[in-house]
Amino acid sequence: MPARADRLEVVVTLAPLLLSTQATVLRGLGPARAAALQEAGIATLHDLLMQLPYRYVDRGALVPMGALEMRGFQRAPEARELTTVLGHVVEVRQSTTHVQRMALTEVLLGDGTGTLRLVFFNQPYLGRSLKPGDRLLAFGPLVMGRHGLEMRGPQLEGMGRGAEGTEWVHRFLPLYRKLGPLTGRVRQKLVEEALQRAHPPEEWLPVELCRQLPDSLTALRLLHQPPDESDARLLETRDTLAHHRLATEELFAFALGVELRRAVRLKRKGMIVPTSEALRERLKSFLPFHLTEAQRRAFKEIVDDLTGGRVMHRLLQGDVGSGKTLVAFLAMAMVAETGGQGALLVPTEVLARQHALNFGRLLGEESRAMQLLLGPMKAAEKREAVARIASGEARYIVGTHALFQEEVRFHDLRLVVVDEQHRFGVKQREALKQKGLDPHWLVMSATPIPRSLALALFGDLDQSVLDELPPGRQPITTRRLDGHSAERAWDLVEKEFRAGRQAFVVSPAIDPTDEAKVKLRDIQAMEHLLRARFPGLDLEVVHGRLRPDDMAARMSRFVAGEAKLLLATTVIEVGVDVPNATVMVVDHAERFGLSQLHQLRGRVGRGAHRSFFVMLSDQESERLQALVDTQDGFRIAQKDLDIRGPGEFFGTRQAGLPQFQVADLVRDRERLQACRAAAVRTLALGLSDAQQDWLRRVQARLKLADVS
Ligand code: ADP
Ligand code: MG
Repeated sequence: MPARADRLEVVVTLAPLLLSTQATVLRGLGPARAAALQEAGIATLHDLLMQLPYRYVDRGALVPMGALEMRGFQRAPEARELTTVLGHVVEVRQSTTHVQRMALTEVLLGDGTGTLRLVFFNQPYLGRSLKPGDRLLAFGPLVMGRHGLEMRGPQLEGMGRGAEGTEWVHRFLPLYRKLGPLTGRVRQKLVEEALQRAHPPEEWLPVELCRQLPDSLTALRLLHQPPDESDARLLETRDTLAHHRLATEELFAFALGVELRRAVRLKRKGMIVPTSEALRERLKSFLPFHLTEAQRRAFKEIVDDLTGGRVMHRLLQGDVGSGKTLVAFLAMAMVAETGGQGALLVPTEVLARQHALNFGRLLGEESRAMQLLLGPMKAAEKREAVARIASGEARYIVGTHALFQEEVRFHDLRLVVVDEQHRFGVKQREALKQKGLDPHWLVMSATPIPRSLALALFGDLDQSVLDELPPGRQPITTRRLDGHSAERAWDLVEKEFRAGRQAFVVSPAIDPTDEAKVKLRDIQAMEHLLRARFPGLDLEVVHGRLRPDDMAARMSRFVAGEAKLLLATTVIEVGVDVPNATVMVVDHAERFGLSQLHQLRGRVGRGAHRSFFVMLSDQESERLQALVDTQDGFRIAQKDLDIRGPGEFFGTRQAGLPQFQVADLVRDRERLQACRAAAVRTLALGLSDAQQDWLRRVQARLKLADVS
């Protein structure tokens, strides 16, 4: 009966829902759809609403098909903008291409002013699912085909059939990605209902952050149902005030989470390292040179932590060659020379061996206090290492992840230094806790990163920055050469050989499925080239597929100066220290990230001699020019981030990044700083109930629990 249905409507509008309500209260959510939401991490109305449309179709920007010819399709394909058309299917044709036997689907779309051919390869299901009369939005680049203008492989959005497909009444149509059985259109319906029924929440942002910004629910409305007067460009670039509001919410929640965690840590009691004049003298006696001002400052911050009664969680940042290792060594000596043990954890065996060698040198006669522990050691050797660690005879311990094996018992572990490569996981920390240990932590960052991002990546770690290089460093002469001028690079290498120096050549690791492969020179081809160019030269080749002991043997021949040239993939990126190597040539430099190239460059210029870094690349790019222009790793990292975005920049470490829906760590770095300051103030005042509630919800969504 209609009367009852009406009453139901009334009840619904009278019972507003909190944003924290489970999304399953929404109508039209059967078990399959509910499961798809859950799979996507959408539990509450708020979760649902925080997933913004991936795109808006602006009716004003729709092009009538009759006017299509006028657009600039003759531009290069990558410069061509997306064109959006709306029409109904006139005809669907299915065939097979002659040459490669691909399924070819052609759809003729018409809108009353003209028609446009849409062409799809290898998507035969389209031919079966599209029917004449279907209304479709299509967007993609236009190309000139054999029969005139066409759109190849456009994205499609179903708009219903015939007359029922006229529901689009506003200027902007939000598009949502399909989630399993939830089509974009169904999602839009769910969002609509959620927005209609949601109750405006109490304000949870501190006023200093939300001045001039819309409130939370209004911001969500503005982005899911943009009013006709919205600015299309700002919507597209995600830069409206509504976006700012939601980004601020995410960043503030994140900053609060970090600060809360920090507050908990500061309450934990840390082992106090006793200092004395004797200790100071002892540390000094290890030092081969004067510390730089920056090293002195960083070390003082560490000493304050170690003697202050709290548990140290500190990030030591610094450019390549800024002398992080020496600072880390001093921190280890602090605990090792006062009866405890310090462990240095590094990502690879090559690096572990090198650090051990280094520490051995610094310790001199005391080097028996140092112990190396690696995964693939001989059984007897390993047994002895483990015994020395357990007895406390070993006080300076250097190793790979083998340090966390069950059988390893520490006598009195007070400090762990992590050479940060891949993120050091919560798991390892747990493993240590299981052993009843709560040591101090010092994390060395291999890539310098801007402070605000370090905060995002490393959460509540305090930071020390080495912003100065040891004296006497020669700047590294950096250049880019076209592939066909490579001979000039080899001439330079030859000159350095004649002066008794060594050289690195770096080849990109090439994935065999890489489409561009045919045009790339791989490491074998480079080896042939080098052997032909330098007949009789003693050269070693290293790459990731070698057995670790084989790799170590080859590296050590280069370190010892027996091999004059080391041809490598990026396995040498981190830490290899050969002061006599004065030139590095990187092939296909455009294939590397900027920060990666900067790390590679840091392998030369470590001795007293003038050094060279040559990038072979046929691509004249702003990116590579940045390396020629500056040797400041922080600036290079910033540039790299701006160009590639945090996802690619952080690569494997991305797993540990907070999962923001709207905020962007690069673009919003200043906002993050403001949120951080506000978080500190807010905590000092105490959280309101609304804030506590909201924080619990948001933190689950951002997966902040995984942040270190
Ligand atoms: P990072 O790990 O930060 O890239 P390293 O610790 O490997 O840098 O140091 C680079 C080089 O500088 C090493 O050869 C080291 O012995 C040297 N070095 C470190 N500190 C100083 C200093 N204060 N004065 C002179 N040389 C230093
Ligand atoms: Mg180092």
